[in-house]
Amino acid sequence: MSDLIPVTLIPGDGIGPEIIASTLEILETIKAPFQWDKQLAGMAAVDASGDPLPQETIDSIHKTGLALKGPLTTPVGKGFRSINVTLRKEFGLYANVRPTRTLIPGGRFENVDIVLVRENLEGFYAAMEHYIPVGDDPKAIATCAGYTSRTECRRIVKYAFDYAVKNNRKKVTLVHKANILKELCGLFLEEGRKVAKEYEGKIACEERIVDACAMELVLKPETYDVIVTTNLFGDILSDLTSGLIGGLGMPPGANIGEKAAMFEAVHGSAPDIAGKNMANPLAVLRASAMMLEYVNRVDLAKRIESAIEKVVVHDKVRTKDLGGNASTSDMTAALKQAIA
Ligand code: NAD
Repeated sequence: MSDLIPVTLIPGDGIGPEIIASTLEILETIKAPFQWDKQLAGMAAVDASGDPLPQETIDSIHKTGLALKGPLTTPVGKGFRSINVTLRKEFGLYANVRPTRTLIPGGRFENVDIVLVRENLEGFYAAMEHYIPVGDDPKAIATCAGYTSRTECRRIVKYAFDYAVKNNRKKVTLVHKANILKELCGLFLEEGRKVAKEYEGKIACEERIVDACAMELVLKPETYDVIVTTNLFGDILSDLTSGLIGGLGMPPGANIGEKAAMFEAVHGSAPDIAGKNMANPLAVLRASAMMLEYVNRVDLAKRIESAIEKVVVHDKVRTKDLGGNASTSDMTAALKQAIA
């Protein structure tokens, strides 16, 4: 019987296939124990079958419980629901985990090391939106009803505290807007405080209103450790934390559920640089390192992180977004050499 772990592999759209190919070369070099089941989603799937999320892809993830995914293009406009949101719902991927750490010295901030845990299923992303016509204007008023549940609030905050314990973190900050959204965010804060009590003496807990948090993140980001927040605030703040370390090319993301987990880059399909051998492959490579940790191969995850540090910090092999002129293939070759 094979010891390989089956994983659904979705190359994705735009720069997706290039950065996934780069990651696969590096995983092969370290003999990562994965067996890939390649499937389509996004515009690649629309082109092949007319369906942005084919049943075969869903069936594969149900079978493997693990996916490594390139970014997917979501066409703007009517008729297309975000495939990412659909995947999170289908597999109950309730926790979105995005670590952001300063790697290259000399940037705006030296000591950023923040893990943002975002609730992935509720809030305004599960919203019921509609228009109310007034007179002859069918779109005179737009409404949106989001929701949060006690169970999900508790589960996401507990995930953040457990993550903090497991990863030797010191503090969790509950980020909310309960001063205005007294029930929607109030419930999150109420449950968050209860969970925090269970970890008293082990992990410190702070609370921040989201607007104050945004300001502090750009003034003194080094004071933040683990942040846990609701869906929309998490979406916005995780791009902000990516910006603190110089952009979207680096941070990975994990979507964790009870029965499945999906790993991806935080960034999108970058159509402006697709097919030009310019994309930075590090975010999706780091996502694969998170997947290695998830399957208890911390040893291999650490090898990837050390190789990235050697190539990017010491040897200064950097793609354009990091201020260098290396191509995707230059960086892949350098990483393979560093990790072999
Ligand atoms: P984007 O993240 O694709 O690009 C924003 C900017 O960052 C662009 O200038 C791009 O060139 C640059 N960039 C992103 N990743 C890079 C990388 N690895 N190396 C170098 N530069 C990089 O965001 P966007 O342009 O707003 O979105 C494009 C598409 O991606 C949209 O259809 C959007 O819906 C989708 N998207 C998908 C995901 C996902 O699948 N998880 C996430 C975000 C956006």
